[in-house]
Amino acid sequence: MRYGILSDIHSNLEAFDAVCAALTKERLDACLFIGDLVGYGADPHECIIKMKSLAPKVLIAGNHDWGVLGLLDMDYFNEYAASAVAWTARMLKPAEMDYLKSFVLFHEEGNFTLVHGSLNQPAKFNYILDDDDAFLNMRLSRTPLCFVGHSHYPAIFILESDGAIRVPAVKVKIEGNKKYVVNVGSVGQPRDGDPRASYVIYDDEDNTVEIRRIIYDVERAQEKILKAGLPAWLATRLAEGR
Ligand code: ZN
Repeated sequence: MRYGILSDIHSNLEAFDAVCAALTKERLDACLFIGDLVGYGADPHECIIKMKSLAPKVLIAGNHDWGVLGLLDMDYFNEYAASAVAWTARMLKPAEMDYLKSFVLFHEEGNFTLVHGSLNQPAKFNYILDDDDAFLNMRLSRTPLCFVGHSHYPAIFILESDGAIRVPAVKVKIEGNKKYVVNVGSVGQPRDGDPRASYVIYDDEDNTVEIRRIIYDVERAQEKILKAGLPAWLATRLAEGR
């Protein structure tokens, strides 16, 4: 199987469009989504419609999806995130809320697990930011591969004899005796200093995982955020990738 794996779209239609266009050229068997379809951006309705048409095999819930549904305490969010969550909750129709409600906290299948933040209490949306966080996740994972999002930092961690280490590669060959945590990065709000949308291609026949980046119309996404009356910082940060 060849999978396209997406996370943290955050109502950014321009980024989502660009990634979907790239995926159509990939001979994929399935897509997997690992959370935060909404929040931050100005196009929640359109992103929900697009996600429904993409029809991923698995839809994982992110903290912003849960925030919009009222399932997460608002104290969890910083002021920019909280105002975007509140704005999104006002915009969405009951059927759109029901769609977000259908997302699951984690999913295990074959040799991989999907979770938005970490397997360390998935409903708490903890972050995997460093080698120690990745190592804890590997110990909790029953599968060799675990795909995560949430931090918006694309990264590949591999289990070595004395713990997990982050490797600088964007493409790795999966070896049977190792464990991996792969952060697929963010489609709609990258934070690693590279403003391009991030996603992953996982091929379980040639056993490779690859982080891909693609440019999109950042300016148009920014204009929509400002026009919607969302915090200006949410527009500014898109151009900076942080
Ligand atoms: Zn996110």
